[in-house]
Amino acid sequence: MIVPRLIERKREGGRLEEAEWHELIRAYAAGKVPDYQMSSLLMAIFFRGLDRGETNALTDSMIESGGTLDLSHLSIARIDKHSTGGVGDKVSLILAPLIASLGVAVPMMSGRGLGHTGGTLDKLESIPGFRTDLSLSEAARLVESIGCALIGQTKEIAPADRKLYALRDATATVEVIPLIAASIMSKKLAEGLTGLVLDVKQGSGAFMPDPNRAQALARAMIQLGADRGCPVVALLTAMDRPLGFACGNAMEVRESIDALRGAGPDDLMEVTYALGAEMLMLGGVASSPADAWRMMRDAIGSGQALEKFAEIIEAQGGNPRIVDDQNLLASAPLKSEYAADRDGFITEVAPRAVGYGIITLRGGRRTMEDTIDPSVGFIITAKPGDSVQRGQTLATIHALDAKGVREGTWALNEAITIGDDPPIALDLVSVRMTGAGIEKWERPGV
Ligand code: URA
Repeated sequence: MIVPRLIERKREGGRLEEAEWHELIRAYAAGKVPDYQMSSLLMAIFFRGLDRGETNALTDSMIESGGTLDLSHLSIARIDKHSTGGVGDKVSLILAPLIASLGVAVPMMSGRGLGHTGGTLDKLESIPGFRTDLSLSEAARLVESIGCALIGQTKEIAPADRKLYALRDATATVEVIPLIAASIMSKKLAEGLTGLVLDVKQGSGAFMPDPNRAQALARAMIQLGADRGCPVVALLTAMDRPLGFACGNAMEVRESIDALRGAGPDDLMEVTYALGAEMLMLGGVASSPADAWRMMRDAIGSGQALEKFAEIIEAQGGNPRIVDDQNLLASAPLKSEYAADRDGFITEVAPRAVGYGIITLRGGRRTMEDTIDPSVGFIITAKPGDSVQRGQTLATIHALDAKGVREGTWALNEAITIGDDPPIALDLVSVRMTGAGIEKWERPGV
């Protein structure tokens, strides 16, 4: 293999053969292809793209660079959910125990905060003692014994993707749909799934704000799954405002516990149930969305979903008593209310400004080495379309010190806009995509 010839071919609009992808990725993971050659190829891909066969070959070679979760001996379905990321998106924390409590195994691999978006791993690690760095064999044992494991991408899983993603991040080549699809799916398919549900965010706070590109990404991932016998269903959901009220790691764990107790905010529960219904139907335990919504409501109402959360926390080294005593979670020393400065309608709560505000408060990372404080963030109860009056509390800032309160106030000044008329917000869940096509999402009448 002569790498410059591969680069040249891609640069001129040609394609790499399956065997070439395998050889290239194996050599790159082994340190035998230098980053300068790989970054040149990535830039050629940025402009020329990859076809379906190439995307498949890249995905397979990244999966093969590491180990996989072998759960094929389990008789029950194994379904994960992946979100393309957002602000206030704590759906995984609710869904994993909820779905596992209903007899579908959930081997869930999550990430850390990226850019302005929060990460499930960071949220979970705000639970005292909780370990997300499980080995593949530990994760497999947990899925077998309690039906769920909540893990990060360890060195064992798709290491070639890990190396390539870091290079893409440093060479402005992240935003390429086939590369994103191959990267995400190489990790998901390494979990030995029988189905996958995607929450593809659209709107100003999404990783990919443009709905057409968000749909193209969903289609690419659906195809990758279909080509490997893993059915994938995608829902497009709104990220033009934060999801739920809590934005910040420990506060989002609190809100997730409230949700598992039946007291979650309406928008959060709607997205959770919509995604959960797809998981239960893919898992073969619900026959219709209405059936699935009823099952989930019952599992929350009976307390079995919250009990499963406590079981997962304990199994992963965390303190399960947090589900009954939220004082055991970190709490910021200063809490300051943020009020409307005029009468009118909330026209925007911009997720990016909120997400970067959390980073400023030290609840997210500016560099990979930063440690984060789980206690800080915002509770934002104002939603686009709400009619508000001057002086009305819209949010609470949770900060470490007075400087944090000032910075949090600036972030909310940037994020929250009040105007004379209500805005046109995106539908919370707009469309459903499968291998068979795309349809408008309908809320079941339950
Ligand atoms: N998340 C991933 O895991 N990979 C990408 O390429 C983009 C987002």
